[in-house]
Amino acid sequence: MTNLLITGGAGFIGSHTALVLLEAGHRLVVLDSYANSSPEALRRVAELAGPGAAARLQLIEGDIRSEHDLERAFAACSALGGKPADAVIHFAGLKAVGESVAEPLRYWDVNLSGSRQLVGAMQAHGCRTLVFSSSATLYGYPETVPIPETATIAPINPYGHSKAAVEQLLADMAASEPGWRIARLRYFNPVGAHPSGRIGEDPCGIPNNLFPFVSQVAVGRREQLQIFGGDWPTPDGSGVRDYIHVMDLAEGHRAALDVLLAEGPQLLTLNLGSGQGHSVLEVAAAFEAASGRPVPLKIVERRPGDAAITVADPSQAAQRLGWRTSRGLADMCRDGWAWQSANPDGYEA
Ligand code: NAD
Ligand code: UDP
Repeated sequence: MTNLLITGGAGFIGSHTALVLLEAGHRLVVLDSYANSSPEALRRVAELAGPGAAARLQLIEGDIRSEHDLERAFAACSALGGKPADAVIHFAGLKAVGESVAEPLRYWDVNLSGSRQLVGAMQAHGCRTLVFSSSATLYGYPETVPIPETATIAPINPYGHSKAAVEQLLADMAASEPGWRIARLRYFNPVGAHPSGRIGEDPCGIPNNLFPFVSQVAVGRREQLQIFGGDWPTPDGSGVRDYIHVMDLAEGHRAALDVLLAEGPQLLTLNLGSGQGHSVLEVAAAFEAASGRPVPLKIVERRPGDAAITVADPSQAAQRLGWRTSRGLADMCRDGWAWQSANPDGYEA
């Protein structure tokens, strides 16, 4: 049984991953400021993980930028398992592209300074195993699709720049001394929810991303989906993305952690995606089919900064982790609808 520190574990991807890790028998300390989440998510995670799981899950409300809060989290890890943290899974961060353009300092502070503070605390506590949430946003406007990990890193907004900087920091740490086991996982488009509909994505305000927006149209919270461009060089003219079911993504983290803990020190850099592209129109139609509700739509201007097609080459993850996605678009929509329809106003309802 390992002791894991999960930063940002109350968030969308963190909560689903926490469930998978609890089910795998690990002990977890979650450090989260609840800047973009609710403790209710983890209460439900403990419930879903079954009897006895709550005793293996401890929540620390705090900020990754605070040395004091990181000390509390590492101390909680030792107290929970009688030994220091074996590994950290680092989800905590800010992720809204538009907000990052308006508030770059906040993004550099939370994403880069927060990660730097965390890595310093890991070093002080002799913990050198880290799984980091990176993003396909690093590839900017990709030169080739599907995109391999060797593609040029050329982010086009402050969010992407901050992720690229953390990736570089982690590469520098790995090169600085032997012993670091680091996975930089570049997620494509995580969507969907746990099939129970008990946990899911709960964005604040008007969703920026396609999938939560479509869910809110289907449930009647928003009138109409605006499709950002109908003249892209794609088969139906709408943008194409590589959507990945959040449970597949959560299982990808477990696989990465297992490889890091079983093998020697290394720096792993992997795309986590399905390798399949779906257009905005396909997503809207699949969601209508899953929900039985109409998704009215209107084609509007392209959104600045969008690429036509972003699809992962997921072959490295398959080779290194023995992991690949097993859930398709219909599963993502079915499970996303299970969550949205049971929790139309999210966790705070
Ligand atoms: P989320 O906002 O749901 O989760 C992030 C969590 O971090 C939240 O619980 C939030 O309260 C917490 N947090 C924020 N700032 C904090 C701080 N200073 N200290 C402690 N906790 C803090 O986002 P998510 O979708 O679950 O994303 C998780 C990670 O994956 C992020 O780093 C994000 O950049 C990355 N990522 C997400 C996507 C996506 O589409 N969802 C894609 C690629 C990468
Ligand atoms: N999109 C859209 N309407 C929306 C939100 C998104 O047409 O209200 C499109 C967007 O242009 C892109 C795709 O949906 O082609 C996925 O966008 P999202 O913001 O979810 O992810 P990302 O752009 O980060 O890949």
